[in-house]
Amino acid sequence: MTVQRYGGASVTFDSPAEGYGMRSRVRRTTTRSVRLGRGPRIACINKAHTDLGVDFTKLVRVLQAFVDECLVPVWRTPARLVPARRELPGAWTLVFLDDADHAKSLGYHKLLKNRRPLARVFVRSSLKNHEPVSLVASHELAEMLVDPGNNFWCLGPKRKLYAYEVCDAVEQEAFKLDGLAMSNFLCPPYFENIRQAKSTRFDFLGKVTRPFQVLRGGFALVRTRGKKTLEFGSVAKERDFHKEDRRYHRSQYR
Ligand SMILES: [Zn+2]
Repeated sequence: MTVQRYGGASVTFDSPAEGYGMRSRVRRTTTRSVRLGRGPRIACINKAHTDLGVDFTKLVRVLQAFVDECLVPVWRTPARLVPARRELPGAWTLVFLDDADHAKSLGYHKLLKNRRPLARVFVRSSLKNHEPVSLVASHELAEMLVDPGNNFWCLGPKRKLYAYEVCDAVEQEAFKLDGLAMSNFLCPPYFENIRQAKSTRFDFLGKVTRPFQVLRGGFALVRTRGKKTLEFGSVAKERDFHKEDRRYHRSQYR
């Protein structure tokens, strides 16, 4: 569904096609009542043999609450999480596996050839690094929902392009939801260069003070003159990254 706002009123389209002028059903609503739709269905599949450290049904329920209560008010990205045994037709996927495949990471998200986003969480690697599975899962889930195609870039300071990854810069910060650790995430003003320092909420937990800031323990994927590089919030984080075993981060394929 596409929503375009015109002053106080808004126009709601039932399908993207209508948004391009095909038989649109126009109705006036207040901004508050703009329909968000239900968002994508995300099949949550546990293929790990390692104990997650939490009941899987509870994990999915709390991740749903994370989306509904934390992410949607900020980013307006609803989703329906369903526990499943295998991939579901038409749905996105959040899968829990024992170990990382070729990427030595705790988790990552990417876009499949069939244009469906996929997030992977590596249970054994996460627990070995004392990272709760829920923290890694909420990180990948938030980033997958805000930039499902892994193709959003934003022009930041010094004409550098910053990837729209909403957890990386604050990935070391967590909060508890129903007893489970959830990842902090950035808010839209973080990517807005008109914002003054300390003028608004730049991240969910209120730790970031200015746009494009990378917190200690965080990182940012940046493009300068077509080359992708990483910016680190601290020397320690950079050191972790350059270790042969780069298991201290979560990433994405772009
Ligand atoms: Zn990330």
